Amino acid sequence: MDKPKIYLSSPHMGSTEFDYVKEAFDTNWISPVGPHITAFESGLAMYNSISHCAALSSGTAAIHLALIILGVKQNDEVICSSFTFSGTCNPIVYEKAIPVFVDSELQTWNMDPTLLEHAIVDRIQKTGKTPKAIIIVHLYGMPAKIEEIMAIARKYGIPVIEDAAEALGSTVNGKKLGTFGDLGVYSFNGNKIITTSGGGALVSNNEDWINKARFLATQARDQAPHYQHSQIGFNYRLSNICAGIGRGQLEVLNERIEARRANFDKYRSYLSDYKGFNFVSEPEGYLSNRWLSTVIIDPSRAKCDREKLRLALEKENIEARPLWKPMHQQPIFACYPNYQNGVSDQLFDNGLCLPSGSNLTTTEFSRVIEVVKRQAQ
Ligand SMILES: *Cc1c(COP(=O)(O)O)cnc(C)c1O
Repeated sequence: MDKPKIYLSSPHMGSTEFDYVKEAFDTNWISPVGPHITAFESGLAMYNSISHCAALSSGTAAIHLALIILGVKQNDEVICSSFTFSGTCNPIVYEKAIPVFVDSELQTWNMDPTLLEHAIVDRIQKTGKTPKAIIIVHLYGMPAKIEEIMAIARKYGIPVIEDAAEALGSTVNGKKLGTFGDLGVYSFNGNKIITTSGGGALVSNNEDWINKARFLATQARDQAPHYQHSQIGFNYRLSNICAGIGRGQLEVLNERIEARRANFDKYRSYLSDYKGFNFVSEPEGYLSNRWLSTVIIDPSRAKCDREKLRLALEKENIEARPLWKPMHQQPIFACYPNYQNGVSDQLFDNGLCLPSGSNLTTTEFSRVIEVVKRQAQ
């Protein structure tokens, strides 16, 4: 018999989600309108100290609507972190715009501000046009150098979409990620820090933009007794049932962050003595929700390499994954302009995400550590 599977990051319900879902059934609010949606939106806005929030069907949908709201059109260029998940940049291509990928710095693994400015200047020189938007990602919950990036974006007058899909609850100098940019995006997919089974949100201090997002997300219906449309719309709203799950999850969000941070601290304290095992630290004033605990294995110093360790874990029915494969290396995105410095290539080659659920038990943690120790010693 195989040992029970240990997942990378699985849903972790609290005690009230089911009551909210039951309430949706009892009151017959089963559709993508209803009181849970409104309450989830205001709860999320309050948590992040931002004025407006639209609950949507996914984080990808939120990025898509953000691009449309900023007026991104065919052949416009949009600068985007190369080191990310494809959900960040697919929507650029939905609009037939052109992603321009920018590599990471080593301190936070997110977009390198110096390389960003170089890319902006180079795009203006090459195309005669300023990029239409910047999508900046906070990977694994670690804040990007967002203040520097915002300063550069303001200098060139480029709006910023903050992809905080993995970084709900992370902060820089006490301010929540997703609220630095012009628009912020969260995801409630099943593997994220909290989940609605599937879902996302778009936040902003600009009320018109969030109203526009709700309008576009409900098939762009004009004010009329009949169905009247003067724009292309989408079916991107969150259901009232999912929003009920979200309300319950918001109540335990801070506990989930504490549990994920504790996972990371445990991994670091158990493993950092092994030669060639490295962990990424929070810069001064930065707080990461540590969505996933990641380790970098330097193959020239460690007793094993990333892939050997991953396979050893897999053999014990433990799910571990390489870090995100950079977009400039993806077959479908290789044709787009990119600005590289080798950082994300190196992180992809040597990085591993370890089981990181807020529901990871002590027994499960010991099983993981045991396998890693066998490989690392
Ligand atoms: C999960 C994720 C998304 C997409 O969110 P979905 O809700 O799955 O559509 C976008 N960007 C990043 C960085 C993500 O991790």
